[in-house]
Amino acid sequence: MARIFNFGAGPATLPEPVLRQAAEEMLEWHASGMSVMEMSHRGKEFVAIHAQAEADLRELLGVPPSYKVLFLQGGAAAQFAVVPLNLLRGKRSADYVASGYWSKKAIAEAQRYCKVNVAASSEDAGFNHAPKQERWKLDPGAAYVHYTSNETIGGVEFHWIPDTGDVPLVADASSHILSRPLEVGRFGLIYAGAQKNIGPAGLTVVIVRDDLIGQAAAETPAVFDYKVQAEAGSMHNTPPTFAVYVAGLVFQWLRKLGGLKRMEEINVAKAALVYDYLDQTEFYASPVAKEDRSRMNIPFSLRNTALEETFLKQAKGRGLAQLKGHRSVGGMRASIYNAMPMEGVKALVDFMREFERNHG
Ligand SMILES: *Cc1c(COP(=O)(O)O)cnc(C)c1O
Repeated sequence: MARIFNFGAGPATLPEPVLRQAAEEMLEWHASGMSVMEMSHRGKEFVAIHAQAEADLRELLGVPPSYKVLFLQGGAAAQFAVVPLNLLRGKRSADYVASGYWSKKAIAEAQRYCKVNVAASSEDAGFNHAPKQERWKLDPGAAYVHYTSNETIGGVEFHWIPDTGDVPLVADASSHILSRPLEVGRFGLIYAGAQKNIGPAGLTVVIVRDDLIGQAAAETPAVFDYKVQAEAGSMHNTPPTFAVYVAGLVFQWLRKLGGLKRMEEINVAKAALVYDYLDQTEFYASPVAKEDRSRMNIPFSLRNTALEETFLKQAKGRGLAQLKGHRSVGGMRASIYNAMPMEGVKALVDFMREFERNHG
């Protein structure tokens, strides 16, 4: 077996100890006589797995008791529609911040349900920064304010939490949730598809403040009504059981590591290794404003774009995979989520240096 360092943006690398444990428990989970995949979601074994995963996630993020934690399906893209369906609560408009590819997708979907006021945008600058709070034009009558707290493709991360007064703040935190401590109490709702930094694809985590649920639009599908799912313990329909189980193993891995403060220290060190190098070379370039650079997704380009294919091919030969940038922006991108070990980041930077020596 030869595991590569996988810099893919998602589905993404998972912690090796988690994969090992899942493999060990594949045929039989804890003397149950069966695999987690084969269990009834209403049986006592899976109910315990689910409850433990929720408790561990609450502990890691310090989720206040006045918030529900839901394990749903449909990915972040489903939430682009599910959020307006649940949170408009009879209002006609919502504020959105456009900071990149994913926020634009969220806006396009929300426009099917309400009037979207784009409160701030960095599109004119090629989405290379996070629009500063002073420039946000918020509407006090908006149902909520939505932003993408880490733009997975552009590599733009909000290192601060916007202040939206009494209007609930909603974050698509898909690609940096659990990478750092988070003040959940400042949000109305946080959602994240699991396949970036939580676990396998198929699970979507929603953390929502109690007072925001129970007023979904009449046409909201029951499986996407936060109140219905909250009352059913996320089991109005069959949840993605195996994905919940693996996510639970990831939460335990994070707790053993020392929690999110420790994880953040490691992520800061990993990102610094790449950015420090990018800052002292002319051979590569980083497109993002320094103060808004993502710790999770690092886009970069070769000044000589003709070398891109050679770069990717040689990187792959070294066991450094999935470094190609998103088709919408090109260039390279290194996603270095929680599960990417420091050795992987070191191997990447070593390779980048060597490639520069050979082609610079
Ligand atoms: C990946 C991603 C999405 C889309 O997730 P799906 O699970 O494919 O729906 C949305 N927002 C962000 C920030 C992402 O990184």
